[in-house]
Amino acid sequence: MKACLFAGDRLVLAAGAGDLPSLEEAKAWDAGEGEWFRVGDGAASVMAAQASPRWKPAQGATAMGLRAVLPLLPEPSLSLVLTAAHLARWRRTSRFCGVCGARTRPSPRHQAMHCASCGHLAFPKVSPAVIVQVTRGREILLGRSHRHPQGSYSVLAGFVDPGESLEAAVRREIEEESGIRVRDIRYFGSQPWPFPDSLMVGFTAVYAGGDLRNEDDELEDVDWFTADSLPPVPPSYSIARALIDDFTRRHGIDPATVPTWQRATRPR
Ligand SMILES: [Zn+2]
Repeated sequence: MKACLFAGDRLVLAAGAGDLPSLEEAKAWDAGEGEWFRVGDGAASVMAAQASPRWKPAQGATAMGLRAVLPLLPEPSLSLVLTAAHLARWRRTSRFCGVCGARTRPSPRHQAMHCASCGHLAFPKVSPAVIVQVTRGREILLGRSHRHPQGSYSVLAGFVDPGESLEAAVRREIEEESGIRVRDIRYFGSQPWPFPDSLMVGFTAVYAGGDLRNEDDELEDVDWFTADSLPPVPPSYSIARALIDDFTRRHGIDPATVPTWQRATRPR
């Protein structure tokens, strides 16, 4: 059985091995703050726990930022780590009842935190976000966030507001972030994305009007790119990259030739 031990936004790995440590190793490294819980079923499962955010790497262990480590993990570790990260953070931030304020405990019957004082059950929160491939003829709309590695771009994305349909969120986000109106909104696929608790819902859409403007605080730049002149874009495990690869393939470009952005992967 392998282990997902989180220390804040870092994942603890066996030094040099590049994959998850065994449960025995991880238990030996943990300072004891973490409560272990199972993620997944049968052979495809791991035990996960949240160590102190101040956890210092122990002998034989290393800790890496979660976003930096994801491209390095083989399946099924990658899917399990995404799920474990979501649940570990939810357990850490749901330790007190939102109704009466008493201490909660993991429910033995549900994937929920239970309040013995008032009976409230708090289930894990999933926050839907839309992510969109917008095209105009041979061009794709990409934006540069302050959070992206220098010089890198990605498709536009944003959270769904309460009371909003996914399609309305696509129209609003694209117009807010770029000034562009879209039509022909079609479902593409989805991906769990635990930063901190999203479900990314991918769509394709087509330019319907408007001029590019960038008044959004989140984006440094937004622009149109052709398939043969793409800037560095996200790595292949992300739905963002799947949306971009779909565009390049349709325009006769091999996605393998598109530059991938690099995050610092040094242990810390
Ligand atoms: Zn309560």
